[in-house]
Amino acid sequence: MTEHGQTPFQGRWEQRWHPLREEWVIMAAHRQNRPWSGETMAARAEPIPAYDPTCYLCPGNARVSGQRNPDYRQTYVFDNDHPCVGLNAPLELAQPGGIYRNRPATGIARVVCYSPKHNLTLAELASHEVENLLATWQQQYIDLGSHPQIDHVLIFENKGEAVGVSNPHPHCQIYATNFVFKTIETEARASQRHWQETGRILFQDILAAEQQHGQRIICENETAIAFIPYFGRYAYEVFVAPKATHPNITALSDQEIVDFADVLRQALIKFDNLWQMPFPYVMPLHQAPVDGGDYRTFHFHIEFHPPLRKPNLLKYLAGPEIGGGNFLSDTVPEEKAAELRALPEVHYKQQNDHKD
Ligand SMILES: [Zn+2]
Ligand SMILES: [Zn+2]
Repeated sequence: MTEHGQTPFQGRWEQRWHPLREEWVIMAAHRQNRPWSGETMAARAEPIPAYDPTCYLCPGNARVSGQRNPDYRQTYVFDNDHPCVGLNAPLELAQPGGIYRNRPATGIARVVCYSPKHNLTLAELASHEVENLLATWQQQYIDLGSHPQIDHVLIFENKGEAVGVSNPHPHCQIYATNFVFKTIETEARASQRHWQETGRILFQDILAAEQQHGQRIICENETAIAFIPYFGRYAYEVFVAPKATHPNITALSDQEIVDFADVLRQALIKFDNLWQMPFPYVMPLHQAPVDGGDYRTFHFHIEFHPPLRKPNLLKYLAGPEIGGGNFLSDTVPEEKAAELRALPEVHYKQQNDHKD
């Protein structure tokens, strides 16, 4: 019993085990009324301003917590005001009964603003700004990963209304959790098994196959590469990776960071140039867990999961994907990669600047 009654925080701040899928479900019912400031992009007739007084991410503005953002100049990191996980998540949970089990949703949720400018996308940041963002991600991985209660650090960006984000201010989120997310767990297990069976790094074999074929590569330089994999599930499912195996982003050398930023930027510019609009996507960083396991075979990479097949055509997840758990792709990775490869390497907004 707590002061909150018989069933404290039921369905809130709680992880419930899914025994059939063998994975945790995060219950975050306390977030259902969270506000999202700013008008939607669709409602706008005018260009988006560089500063929006109603945006809770812009410098100097007050957030729902009452805190005011500093007058930041590059990246800005703060604890999420509507976290789905917390270090002070209630430890006293309603007992589920039967075979069911639950546990506190222990973790840390943060927000990273990429830039003080409200109207930019990641694709429009200068090289040094992208490098600075990668340095911020490195610091966050170290900082959050060193916490004893944290087993995994998931950094991801949701971009665009097609994935439910109406605020255009460029930012990503971090969920540092007391469990390893399912996809990372699967990738780590596959990498480990491949190592045991062949003595080789799985992701290196993927890179070798992609370079041998060549037609799915979007761009590359000395140490980094972007491609739509042979097995791509979404039409424009681009992977960006260093060519050398590093379990997480902190292991990249300074030169590898510069090269990685370069390839990431090129891929992002091509995305925005595709339909001359901010290209919507879900972008997770896939990094090794921080639970003390041996992840030397894990190869850090960024994946893009863009929901659109055409400007107004969503890839709906339906029977096969939601019902069965396997993807049915309506496009061919080789064709989509060729489409991206052929696009200009200068952002369309900057192309217009050059014409002036
Ligand atoms: Zn803003
Ligand atoms: Zn991955």
